[in-house]
Amino acid sequence: MDSLSVAYPIDLHTHSLCSDGTLSPADLIRRAAGRGVRVLSLSDHDTLAGVAEAVAAGAELGIRVIPASELNTESEWGDAHVLGYFIDPADVALEERLRWLRENRERRIELMVERLNQLGYGVSLERVLEIAQGGALGRPHLAEALLEKGYVRAYEEAFDTILAKDSPAYVARIGLTPREAVELVRMHGGVPSLAHPGTVVGLEALLPKLVAAGLAGIEAYCGDHSLEMTERCLALARTHGLVPTGGSDFHGRGEHGVDLGAIFVPPETIEMLESRRAHA
Ligand code: AMP
Ligand code: FE
Ligand code: FE
Ligand code: ZN
Repeated sequence: MDSLSVAYPIDLHTHSLCSDGTLSPADLIRRAAGRGVRVLSLSDHDTLAGVAEAVAAGAELGIRVIPASELNTESEWGDAHVLGYFIDPADVALEERLRWLRENRERRIELMVERLNQLGYGVSLERVLEIAQGGALGRPHLAEALLEKGYVRAYEEAFDTILAKDSPAYVARIGLTPREAVELVRMHGGVPSLAHPGTVVGLEALLPKLVAAGLAGIEAYCGDHSLEMTERCLALARTHGLVPTGGSDFHGRGEHGVDLGAIFVPPETIEMLESRRAHA
């Protein structure tokens, strides 16, 4: 049998309890193994805290774990999230920057709880912290708190209503611009890829700026994408010399309806990403 022709599930975008996912890193890896995944990137928001546990579980179950973090940004470019691959959990200077981002997340969620209370939604910070179990805080934890109190009928509804960007409860984050996120990943030896490009406002205008800053990939294979959007991303990858990356963006709540390893990612993607490591 020609081993080159054997494809297997690869998932380069996943979240665990260390940020806003629902499974521990080890449980995430066990679920991935059950679905035949062979290469998985744990890409929790603004943290690398789950990497060691995921790597250990992966070593037992035959899954290669690529360390990563997804950096959300704040700018006029909409939801521009940067996935940084091959960054090092032992990098002290990087961890200091990530901690700053997580502290900003905490303050933002505290402010949002205050606003929710003022608006009459009885959710407590204590309960939100319990739900998060020490993970990097985000709106998903607020959405769960609102759901269990019956303020919304479904988890995703919270993002379209009470927690939406135009809601009085919404507080913008203090954080990096997309360019700063790309630069941070490069500065620490990582390989940056633009996550779910469909949520960026002004993608064609932003991309050359990020490429100049060191962007190496674009998430072409993504559950939110229509066939047309994937084609558009693949064309942008060719134009700008970017590696098309992909993943499920699995958090564990059934959002996007995509399970681990369910998004096709070509096997050569890993080698292509690795070849961009020393590029900076
Ligand atoms: P935040 O970082 O606090 O602004 O929250 C963004 C996170 O919320 C994303 O990483 C997703 O996990 C989640 N999220 C945002 N919008 C939605 C949505 N419409 N449905 C489900 N999850 C969402
Ligand atoms: Fe998330
Ligand atoms: Fe994201
Ligand atoms: Zn994500």
